[in-house]
Formats: sequence, C-alpha cells, structure tokens
Amino acid sequence: MSLRIEQIEESRRKQRPASDAELAFGRYFTDHMMMWNFSAEQGWHDLRIVPHQPLTLDPASMILHYGQQVFEGLKAYRTAEGGIHLFRYRDHLARLARSAARLCIPAFDQQQFADALRQLVLLDRHWVPESDGCALYVRPTIIATDPFLGVRPSQTYLFYVILSPVGAYYPEGFNPVRIMAHDSYVRAVAGGVGEAKTAGNYAASMLAQLEAKKQGFTQVLWLDGKEHRYVEEVGTMNIFFKIGEEIITSPLTGSILPGVTRDTTITVLRDWGYTVSERALTIDAVLAAAADGSLDEVFGTGTAAVISPVGHIGFRGKTERVGDGLTGELSQRLFDHITALQYGRVPDTHGWVERIDL
Ligand SMILES: *Cc1c(COP(=O)(O)O)cnc(C)c1O
Repeated sequence: MSLRIEQIEESRRKQRPASDAELAFGRYFTDHMMMWNFSAEQGWHDLRIVPHQPLTLDPASMILHYGQQVFEGLKAYRTAEGGIHLFRYRDHLARLARSAARLCIPAFDQQQFADALRQLVLLDRHWVPESDGCALYVRPTIIATDPFLGVRPSQTYLFYVILSPVGAYYPEGFNPVRIMAHDSYVRAVAGGVGEAKTAGNYAASMLAQLEAKKQGFTQVLWLDGKEHRYVEEVGTMNIFFKIGEEIITSPLTGSILPGVTRDTTITVLRDWGYTVSERALTIDAVLAAAADGSLDEVFGTGTAAVISPVGHIGFRGKTERVGDGLTGELSQRLFDHITALQYGRVPDTHGWVERIDL
C-alpha cells in the first residue's frame, strides 16, 4: 500500500524560537503532517504526508457538533548520539485503536499507520530538539467529517498527525503541585468514555479546573463519578500514592484512562521490588494518611510531564501536606529512570524504546 509524500519547499524551522528553552508545550508545529481518509466505499485510503496546513471542513461536519473524535499523545526523543527514539509508540497506537472502537470510528491497519508515522517523524527529524528534557510531541487525531446534523456515527473520517517540538516540562527542576478534590464535579463515569482519549472528556473537565485554579490549586484530583469517594486521576494524568511501604493507584475501572506512563511506572516499581496495588482508595484514607504522617509521596504520571510530584491536597476547604511538601525520593528516582530510558541512557529491558533513524 502506497504512502504519497509531498514535501514542503522551504522548511519553516527558522520560525520556531532559536532556543529549546523557549519552546514550551504545543505552540510550534513542524513542516509536515500525515493525513488519511476514510469513506464507507473506499475504507481507509489516500495515506499521505503533506505540508502542515489548515483543514477545510464543512461547518456541518459531525466532529464540530457531536465530538466524535479520538486522539493520542506520544513523544520522539533525540539521544546523546543523535539517534531518534520513539517510546512505547505501539502501545499508544493500540490505545488509539481501542479509543476509536469506543467512539464507533472504523478500525485502521495499525502496522500501516506505524510505518507512516515513523516516516513522518523521520522526514521532520531536524525538528526533534536536542536539549535534555525536550522532545518532539506526536499528536495523532481522528475526526468525523460527514456534513450531517443527525446523531449517528459518521461515514467519513479524517485521520491526521501533527508534530510539535516541546520544551522541558521542568526547566527549573521539580515543583510539587497543589491539587484539589471536588465532591460535585466528575471527569468520567464507568460505562462512559473516560477510558478513551476523546475530546469531550477534556471539555468536561475545564470548569472544575478553573475553580481549582481560583482556589489556589494547580490541578483537580478527580474522584469517582458514582460515590465521589475514590481517587481516580489528577488533571490529565494517572495518580499514585505511597502510603508506608505500599504504592497504590486506581484499578482500570472504566472511567480511568489507561496511561502508558502508568503502566511503565508500575512495571519499573515492581522491577525495583516495590509493592504496587491497583486498588480502590478513598479520599478519606488519603487525607487520614497525610494527617498521621504515613502518606510519603503522591505523584501524577503522563507522557507530557512523565512524573508530576504533588505537595498538597485540598478537599472541602481543608488542605493537607504530602510528606514534607517537597519532591519525594521515589518520584525523583522514577523521573530520572524513565527519562533515562526514553533518551537511551540506560538499557531498555522491556522493549519499550524503538530507534527509528537507522
Ligand atoms: C493521556 C492521559 C493520561 C496519561 O496517559 P499516558 O499514556 O501516560 O500519556 C492519563 N489520564 C488522562 C485523562 C489522559 O488523557
């Protein structure tokens, strides 16, 4: 099956900031993008790499009305020797396929997509930042494009991938965040679409996020949608609690996004001999552990930040400190180890890293 490539005439790379330190997250885009169309008659067809460009959509396009959409977020890294690594990208593609199935988006050939994705990243490899902590963020997205106002799955789709060079998440080192649990707003409920990476989940989270900000917190600690008791996720990350010798994260109940970094963290911790439990944990138990001093560490996990240490947790007007409020030893060790794996500085014993430039 063919991949058509239409190259840009002159790279726009000089339009991005000269210094990697000014890249921030998701502001600049590379020269090229991937596009792939679906129609009922032709299936997935016309897979192509073209210059990064605006989309032309009919204002009736179903994505704009009913949000039938899925996306992914993964990264390409430049190693000290100048090689290009993708980290667990096949796991990201498998999750994209699961998200698509949940949103009634037709299945695509993962192998064909993986090949095109590698070619896209290679074509724009000079955009992969060189500085430590920086990476090329890869954003695959599938949208429903039927110009139709009835509610049903679309019969046409556009699958595209854009690339964005991103700066270090912690340019000045870790800064533990303050997170706040709500007992009224929820992110997702089991049986809904919380376990799919789909746009509506993020639109649904914004009001609670704004309120948390107003009250002096960085992120929302999401509780389950039924009893409003069990800790599920933080912002757009999975969350872990170290209480005494046990490290606890929510089981994949259906409302949790099954994070690749979550899985990496669980695997690495078990390799190191830690006890990791995927079990239900109430906000009351977390706050009680904070009060009696047994809550050593709390951290979020996700592709963007890798590990995000939590210093304080607020709930119902009270705020508890986690440990000494600073970055915990284990959070730092996990961050150092997982990023070392991603940049190829330590041996990859799990087959997570794929060098694509050879
Ligand atoms: C993407 C995402 C995560 C983290 O997933 P990773 O695969 O680790 O990047 C966690 N929770 C939510 C809600 C997400 O959207």
